[in-house]
Amino acid sequence: MYKISIVAPLIAMLAVAANLALAQNPTNVEVTIDGVTGFQDTALQPDGKWHVHDPARPQPPIVTPGNFSQMAAPPSDATVLFGGKAEDLSLWTDRQGNPAPWTVEDGVMVSAKSDIQTKEQFGDLQLHLEFREPTPPKGDGQSRGNSGVFLMGQYEIQVLDCFKNPTYADGATGGIYGQHPALVNACLPPGEWQTYDIIFNVPHFGPSGELQSPGYATVIHNGVVAQNHQAIRGATNWKSPGKYTPHGPTGPLALQFHNNAVAFRNIWVRAVPVVNDP
Ligand code: MG
Repeated sequence: MYKISIVAPLIAMLAVAANLALAQNPTNVEVTIDGVTGFQDTALQPDGKWHVHDPARPQPPIVTPGNFSQMAAPPSDATVLFGGKAEDLSLWTDRQGNPAPWTVEDGVMVSAKSDIQTKEQFGDLQLHLEFREPTPPKGDGQSRGNSGVFLMGQYEIQVLDCFKNPTYADGATGGIYGQHPALVNACLPPGEWQTYDIIFNVPHFGPSGELQSPGYATVIHNGVVAQNHQAIRGATNWKSPGKYTPHGPTGPLALQFHNNAVAFRNIWVRAVPVVNDP
């Protein structure tokens, strides 16, 4: 009896330690399934079916887009965050508040050196922006034309060149990174301008920091809905299923530098407060 009473808790403790080790494992092993490289030893998504960045998770179906909002002129009440002038870069900084290290050439802003974020803070918003992936394409998977749109500086809508470039579904273009794959792959070939029209509702937190309602993102990629009022599971991070940290009602808009020179143009936002009255 004595042995059993010691052994059972010991086994339980070892199991807990093994689970902790798995959850905190900084060196997950990459696996490739049907040409898609990702992980199957990361945390499970809340659906219990797929791991974060699971290469077996179904790919968004390819939809060839039509014309939609290319060069859409900003509405009169929009805040223009990049209209094509070099001085527009002064509306942005790096993550530490230093001058934005991106370049502006021929009316186009190109990612370099670090993420950038707006000086202005935004809450619920409508965002329009256009991006162009490098051509000829270089690298594969997550290394090809990677950037991103960080809502409130921390909820990433992925920007990637997913034209004939398979990657794990929750990290493909139009995905809420690491959480919700896009409903479609509406990518145009690299070198062509693509549009994002995004509607975002901020998350709300209670007085003790508890989550009262998650953030929601609707993403239209080249005129095709990629996210339909999709609840966000928290700040997006590599190999993380997403976690909320309480914050205020507004935050900056940030764009990612991920070692690829991705071009942006025609970026503007409008405030779109949610009206809860029926
Ligand atoms: Mg990215």
